[in-house]
Amino acid sequence: MNLNVLWSKILDQIKDELTSLSYNTWFSDTELYKLENNRAYIIVPMAIHKKHLLDNYSDLIIQKLNDITDSNYELILLLKEEIKEEEKKIEQSKQTEYNNEKDVKSNSVVNSNLNKKYVFDNFIVGNSNKFAHAAALSVAENPGNMYNPLFLYGNSGLGKTHLMHAIGNYIIENSNKKVLYVTSEQFRQDFVKANRKDDKGTNFNYIDFFKDKYRNIDVLIIDDIQFLGGAAQSQQEFFHTFNNLYNDSKQIIISSDRSPTDLKLLEDRLRTRFTWGLTVNIYPPEYSLKTEILKKKIIAGNFEQDIPDDVIEYIASNIGPDVRQLEGSVTRLIAYSAIMGGEKITLDLAIEALKDFISKGIGEKNDVHRIQKIVSEYFQISVEDIRSKKRSSNISFPRQIAMYLCRAMTNESFPKIAIEFGGKDHSTVMYSVEKIENEIKVNKDLANIIEKLKKDIGIV
Ligand code: ADP
Ligand code: MG
Repeated sequence: MNLNVLWSKILDQIKDELTSLSYNTWFSDTELYKLENNRAYIIVPMAIHKKHLLDNYSDLIIQKLNDITDSNYELILLLKEEIKEEEKKIEQSKQTEYNNEKDVKSNSVVNSNLNKKYVFDNFIVGNSNKFAHAAALSVAENPGNMYNPLFLYGNSGLGKTHLMHAIGNYIIENSNKKVLYVTSEQFRQDFVKANRKDDKGTNFNYIDFFKDKYRNIDVLIIDDIQFLGGAAQSQQEFFHTFNNLYNDSKQIIISSDRSPTDLKLLEDRLRTRFTWGLTVNIYPPEYSLKTEILKKKIIAGNFEQDIPDDVIEYIASNIGPDVRQLEGSVTRLIAYSAIMGGEKITLDLAIEALKDFISKGIGEKNDVHRIQKIVSEYFQISVEDIRSKKRSSNISFPRQIAMYLCRAMTNESFPKIAIEFGGKDHSTVMYSVEKIENEIKVNKDLANIIEKLKKDIGIV
């Protein structure tokens, strides 16, 4: 990459925003010395430039630089005579990684996109997520050495993103490793941008910056990898990124709403790589975990009133498994009580406050897997069978019923349901749903079975 071209591009933009006096005074004699380890070293002519630029223009410079390169550079301003010293310091800090922790840390405020709110301390552990939690913690304590990659999957709202940020925050707190969190959508956008043509016709290699951003790190956290499906070139690039980091023993952490095998739209070579380390399923929270989460959220929200146990029980048995909805219900309940003039929170008030919330939430609360499980149990077949392509009628009939219930009780589309049933064509699902709908009308026994199953699933 050509540093002079890059710097003159940045200066061009800065020039547009300043008076020519300011520009000439502060910028005309500057030079981009090098880009390394997410740091941009800029040489300035005098000490006064250093101070003035830092105090007044560092945000502007960083913004332009990171905009153009799509990276997370931090700024280091140097006088020419300081270069040698700085190089020595870098060399030393590389060698005494930990001894010199404070110094190193202050030098590496790279933007890792981590949300400080999500840490291990406020992640509540129960049976459904304890394996995921333990795996996450051991990766956090030992990045690159324990499980690589760590692949977390489960339905929406079960705490995947929270755990991933917790890992990143933990690593940053306890080491000087560089962590980058992105969603797969962000990765895709960065890659597309990296391939754009430069409008000014300069020979400018954006892809170098992209590679620098994604390969010059110790930990890559990539959220919701399922959205990379369908983006062939981004997948290819991710494949290379993965190999590069993996071969250097850099930690990779991936999340998805489904298991690697079910990521049908991803290339095989990616899917197999995802299973090289540890694959962990995070399950919907059990009742006791839900009540605990509710209680902690109430405490964390600094809510003065005690919320009675029967209210907590009511919420826990009617809302979820999406933890986001549990949180939403607490917020709503508290807001409702406030609007009613600080009325005491009772079960009656809760039922009233959450009326719409609960009936609206029903669609989301019955996920496809739960329905498959309940229907399989009822017909005494295995969940694997109900999800398989087997055609014998003792399996295909329950399967059709399960598909019908998925359509009736969740918000999932036909194609999504088809994927959950062994990747069938979505017209098969449409056909099954229609068939059961028609049969219920004429077959009282079947209608009763469906009613019973709906009760078990929890809608009626
Ligand atoms: P996902 O990424 O699986 O869709 P998130 O991590 O975004 O889910 O979680 C949704 C919300 O629920 C977040 O606010 C998160 O903090 C909270 N949450 C989920 N699981 C837990 C848990 N076990 N303890 C505390 N908060 C949780
Ligand atoms: Mg998420």
